Amino acid sequence: MKRKIAVIGAGLAGCEAVWLLSKNGIAVDLFEMKPNKYSPAHKLPYFSELVCSNSFKSMNKYNPSFMLKEEMEKLGSIVMESALKNKVPAGESLAVDRENFSKYITEKLLTLNNVKVIYKEVEDIPNEYDFIIIATGPLTSQSLANYLNKLFNNDFLYFYDAIAPIIDSDSIDKSKVFFASRYDKGGDDFLNIPLTKEQYYEFVNALKSAEKVTLRPFEKERYYEGCLPIEVLAERGEETLAYGPMKPVGFDENKIGFKPFAIVQLRREDKEGTAYNIVGFQTKLTIKEQERVFRMLPGLEKAIFLRYGSIHRNTFIDSPTYLLPTLNLKNMRNIFFAGQITGVEGYLESACSGIMAGFFLLCDLMSIEPQIPPRTTAIGALLSHLRTDVKPFQPSGIHLGLFDKKNMPKRIDKKLWIKKQEEEDFNNWFEWASKLVIF
Ligand SMILES: Cc1cc2nc3c(=O)[nH]c(=O)nc-3n(C[C@H](O)[C@H](O)[C@H](O)COP(=O)(O)OP(=O)(O)OC[C@H]3O[C@@H](n4cnc5c(N)ncnc54)[C@H](O)[C@@H]3O)c2cc1C
Repeated sequence: MKRKIAVIGAGLAGCEAVWLLSKNGIAVDLFEMKPNKYSPAHKLPYFSELVCSNSFKSMNKYNPSFMLKEEMEKLGSIVMESALKNKVPAGESLAVDRENFSKYITEKLLTLNNVKVIYKEVEDIPNEYDFIIIATGPLTSQSLANYLNKLFNNDFLYFYDAIAPIIDSDSIDKSKVFFASRYDKGGDDFLNIPLTKEQYYEFVNALKSAEKVTLRPFEKERYYEGCLPIEVLAERGEETLAYGPMKPVGFDENKIGFKPFAIVQLRREDKEGTAYNIVGFQTKLTIKEQERVFRMLPGLEKAIFLRYGSIHRNTFIDSPTYLLPTLNLKNMRNIFFAGQITGVEGYLESACSGIMAGFFLLCDLMSIEPQIPPRTTAIGALLSHLRTDVKPFQPSGIHLGLFDKKNMPKRIDKKLWIKKQEEEDFNNWFEWASKLVIF
């Protein structure tokens, strides 16, 4: 019997789900509200837009984010395919030209014969479909969020995230900064601003006293720890920044000419290096104050801001309460969720959950009880977070703490063991899964 399937949201998760379903001969209606309506952070008319950093994190083979990338590649990820085709130099990380990255995915999806794209904001769950994947992201439109909130007995959760400013390269005084990567990993990919102790303290004091965007009364401040606004970090201690995003380690002091107390790093936004993102400078300072305070940094006196830092509401559901391990609702099994709205955190993690929602839906269509990847694999570890019993439930990206280490022998190199186990267990799971599904 032919089933009607819809994916709502052509972000990182939605595109992955559509890609996998289409590859397996399943027709899909893909709903996307852009370009008719944009969230406060989305700007491009393309699918799979990267709303903040252009980085897909580490390429170090022992890093959990690398393991996730490797597993996703094996599962035929369109996000990974595009990221590798559109990468820009970024030291040991995988970073992309954001526009070409999204364009590539959009073009690929638009050529699929069995995918119909419907440019429309979805305001409730459409009832003409047999299966639906909701992948509307952390900035799900208000009307759908309200509808879902009701569906979840007003138990919908939320938190806040901040994005970092992007500076026009030509407006940076290059005589006051230097090009280098920390520990020489990756050549001249980053632009660095060394600060003396006096300059650092002057900057931190200005940050602390600067005017911030005020939240609306009902908006409780709950930040994601890995993406804290710079001014919140500054409030935590006078030298917190010098030990965090502004740490002065990994550079040749002879090249700088003095021993810096702190270093601000700017990462290329595109291959040509026409724009730079200030690393770790996500902020909720007002626009006027961002200009004043960030222009205090040597070399940025005349900085032109291509994009200001900002703060946005993020929406996610209480997955441990409402979702099955197969990413569908416990009480409406034909409704799946994917992406950051499930409480995974990050570009890769969101995309990965899109692949898995597509996979679980395919299993459902074949009436096969799916095996969940074990927690020794990166995907399994990530999905296990959505079943955590830690309350209140908060989003998380992949990290080593999520991996199952109960069979790890004592006095063994932890990283080596996790990597070896991950490879073995993923390959076993993949052997089983790839007999069912075309990746
Ligand atoms: C401000 C901000 C900055 C972030 N920065 C980073 C970062 O630097 N690095 C990182 O790894 N992660 C970051 N994240 C987290 C996360 O990785 C991204 O939000 C990621 O894009 C989530 O992927 P997704 O597929 O779940 O949602 P999205 O990529 O946001 O896709 C959702 C899609 O659904 C569409 N949509 C929404 N509502 C509707 C509707 N009702 N009907 C139809 N279409 C709809 C949207 O237009 C969008 O295209 C950030 C998140 C936010 C909010």
